[in-house]
Amino acid sequence: MNYKELYSDFGKNLNLSIVKELLKFAAIPGAISFGGGVPDPETFPRKELAEIAKEVIENEYYYTLQYNSTEGDSLLADQMIKFFKKVYGVDNLKHENILFTNGSQQAIDLVTRVLLDKESICIVENPVYFVAFASFKTALPTIIGIPLEDDGMNLDVLENVLQNLDMGGKIKKVKFIYTVPNFHNPAGVTMSLEKRKRLLEIAAKYDLLILEDDPYGLLRFEGKHLPSLFSLAGCERVLLLNTFSKVLTPGLRIGTIVGPKELIEKFADAKQIVDLCSPSLNQRIAARYLQRYDLISQLENAIQIYKRKRDIMVEALANEFSDIPNTRWVKPEGGLFVWLTLSEGFDTLEMLHFAKEKGVFYVPGQLFTVDEKPSSSMRLSYCLPPEEKIIEGVKRLKQAVVEYGVKKGLLR
Ligand SMILES: *Cc1c(COP(=O)(O)O)cnc(C)c1O
Repeated sequence: MNYKELYSDFGKNLNLSIVKELLKFAAIPGAISFGGGVPDPETFPRKELAEIAKEVIENEYYYTLQYNSTEGDSLLADQMIKFFKKVYGVDNLKHENILFTNGSQQAIDLVTRVLLDKESICIVENPVYFVAFASFKTALPTIIGIPLEDDGMNLDVLENVLQNLDMGGKIKKVKFIYTVPNFHNPAGVTMSLEKRKRLLEIAAKYDLLILEDDPYGLLRFEGKHLPSLFSLAGCERVLLLNTFSKVLTPGLRIGTIVGPKELIEKFADAKQIVDLCSPSLNQRIAARYLQRYDLISQLENAIQIYKRKRDIMVEALANEFSDIPNTRWVKPEGGLFVWLTLSEGFDTLEMLHFAKEKGVFYVPGQLFTVDEKPSSSMRLSYCLPPEEKIIEGVKRLKQAVVEYGVKKGLLR
C-alpha cells in the first residue's frame, strides 16, 4: 500500500526526520554526546521513589491502578499549590487553575490544539525550543521569531512587530507570546527583570496572552532568583507551564499548566480526547513524594552536579576556542545548555559530519531557528556526559571546527 496517500494534512506536515537522523548520530558507540537535554540519572531520587511506588500500589491501589479524572490527582493539586507558593510566591491558586499533563510537551500540544489555527499568529523567541515550535507548526499558524539577546528577547523588535500587526488590523490574530525566561533552551540565557516587566507592559498594552515555559527555573547555580512572569502578572495574563522532568524525573511524565479557570477547562476538554487522563499512579507517587520531601532542598545535590559540569564545559570552551575568531557563548547561570556561536559562514548542520568523525555530537542551531535556515550556532548540553568526557568532547569539537573551517576556507 502507499501509506502516504492515507495521511491527513497533519500527518503530511509532520516532518521530524532530521531529529530522528540526529538521534542515530548520538547512538554511535564511543561518541560523546552534548546532544540530548536529558537529566543525569544520578540526580533521580530512585530509592525514595521506589519506596513510595511500592506503598501507593499496595495501599492505594483503588486509586493508583484505576482511571483518573482528566484534571488529575487532587492530592497532587494540593501539593502543587503549596509548591507553587514556595517557588513563585503565588497564594491564590485553586484546583480549577491547574491541569496535569503528560509532561509539558502535552501542555504545549493542548495549547496548540485549543488556540492555534491557520489564521493565527504566534510569537516565539528565536532561537526557539524546537519541540514546542514543531507542535505550533502543526496548526499552520504564522510564527514570528523575535531575536533572543543575552538578557532575553529583543523587546524593541517585539514592539515593532506588534505595532505593525496592530496597524494592519491583525493584532487579534496573535494568540500568545511563547517564552522560556529562565536558562533558555537552547540559548542558556535568562530574561532580565527589566525585560520581564517591560514584556508584561507590552502584553497588557495589546491585551496578549503569554505562554511561560519554566522547566529550569529551580536549577539556578548562582545569581539572584528572578520572579517569573507568572509571579509578576498572575494567571489572567500568563499561562504557566511547569514540569517535573528536569527537577525530579522525566520518567513520571508530569507537567502542569496553570492558568485562568476558563482556559484550563478548555484544555481539560482537549486532553480528554487525547488520552482521557494522565497516569494516576505517577501522579500519586509525585504527590506522596512532595508530602514527604522538600523538592527544593532535595535539588541541591543536582544543582551541584550540574554547576560543576557547567564550569568544566565553560572552562574547556575558553581553553579550546580562544584562538578561533568570533566564537561566542554565554555562561549560563543555571539549566542545562550552552549555546555556542561560530563566525558567520559556519553551517553547524553540515559540520555535524566532521563532528561525527571525531566522535562528538551536538544539536545544530538550524533546528532551533524560526526560519530554519543554516545556522552557525549549536546547542551543547553538559548534563549527561561524565566530567572527564566533557573536556574530551570539547577537544574533539574544536578539531571538528578546525577541520571544517579550514576545508571551507573559513579558518586558516
Ligand atoms: C524539556 C523541556 C520541556 C518538556 O519537558 P516534558 O518532559 O515534556 O515536561 C518543555 N519546554 C522546554 C523548554 C524544555 O526544555
